[in-house]
Amino acid sequence: MTRSRLCILGATGSIGVSTLDVIARHTDRYEVFALSGHSRMKLLAEQCLAHRPAYAVVADADQARQLGGQLRDAGLNTEVLAGADSLAWVAAHERTDTVMAAIVGAAGLKPTMAAARAGKKVLLANKEALVMSGALLMEAVRAAGAQLLPIDSEHNAIFQCMPGNYASGLDRVGVRRILLTASGGPFREMDAAALVQVTPDQACAHPNWSMGRKISVDSASMMNKGLELIEACWLFDAHPDQVEIVVHPQSVVHSLVDYTDGSVLAQLGNPDMRTPIAHALAWPERIDSGVSALDLLSIARLDFQRPDPERFPCLRLAREAALAGGTACAILNAANEVAVDAFLQQRIGFTAIPVIIEHALNRQAAEPVRDLEHVMQADTVAREHANSWLASRD
Ligand code: NAD
Ligand code: MG
Repeated sequence: MTRSRLCILGATGSIGVSTLDVIARHTDRYEVFALSGHSRMKLLAEQCLAHRPAYAVVADADQARQLGGQLRDAGLNTEVLAGADSLAWVAAHERTDTVMAAIVGAAGLKPTMAAARAGKKVLLANKEALVMSGALLMEAVRAAGAQLLPIDSEHNAIFQCMPGNYASGLDRVGVRRILLTASGGPFREMDAAALVQVTPDQACAHPNWSMGRKISVDSASMMNKGLELIEACWLFDAHPDQVEIVVHPQSVVHSLVDYTDGSVLAQLGNPDMRTPIAHALAWPERIDSGVSALDLLSIARLDFQRPDPERFPCLRLAREAALAGGTACAILNAANEVAVDAFLQQRIGFTAIPVIIEHALNRQAAEPVRDLEHVMQADTVAREHANSWLASRD
């Protein structure tokens, strides 16, 4: 079997580490062609030593010099590159077969787009890329004949529950609704008054999943589910009204598809990202992911609840942006990134996050998306509006 060559963007993050864990179990099937990391250089060096990529991509020239020296001293031929253009370059490289898009936030958009335009197999964890620029990314995938496989556990579950020909239209294949499950995050049961006081560490202590800090805060505010609603609309060509959010605290049912004949298909599993990663890597085959078998008897019960839009206004903001379309989702995403960062730095309280996002959405009208530059411009302006809100409160 010829081995598939992987480019892992965001190798030092939570998804990146899980991806390397899965592929280390299958060195007969996969080899690492390129790894990237923006921080945690010690970890990136260890990953390079273990997986011997042709390229490593870091943030800047200083990091590149240091890592390059370290790897040379260890006898490795890995070439170390720096900067955003290098990320896009390795993603689109002719020797790359599969790209794991696992950079967090808007920084992942350009390299993910480059991978799609180069017709790669793209494993998409970086949901922000699709939220910002779904129309352009899906069009690039179609035009270049790329393959886009969702890594987000819910979307991977939906993909597994969809019929093979779902791209011909949900109505035509008899899909009535997509049921997107949400754990509800660490503050699912907290009352509104207490939410004002929560700390970044409390927000990052997710009950079921271990993840990077940005997505952990998004899960706590439920903006993660809002972003995932938008993500689902693009991936499955669904109208926002066809996607229903269901709170499911156990995170065992990863999402469901409701068919017109009354059948509801679900994908279940332990909450461990190695399952969707292994699924997408090997699709349409199946490989061992290292995840233990689901023990239904010890789980014993599965609960489902309606989300609370009062305590979690990010859900409403995301649904409104999904319905508005155009640049609205890029504005939503950019303002959220600024707000989450400010919360993590303890500049604002948790409940200010949706206030900042709504401020940015109100200050900038949504426009039909023209091209990538237009999306990036909407992103920049939304960040300016969010930052000026912050500055006015400092
Ligand atoms: P993380 O913070 O653990 O890792 C992010 C990675 O991106 C790191 O390698 C970091 O060095 C890199 N990075 C950060 N800023 C960068 C920049 N400006 N330029 C280049 N690289 C940069 O995040 P994560 O939890 O692994 O999440 C990654 C993506 O996957 C996010 O979009 C997230 O929403 C999505 N996702 C994660 C999970 C999960 O369980 N962790 C689940 C579903 C989806
Ligand atoms: Mg998810």
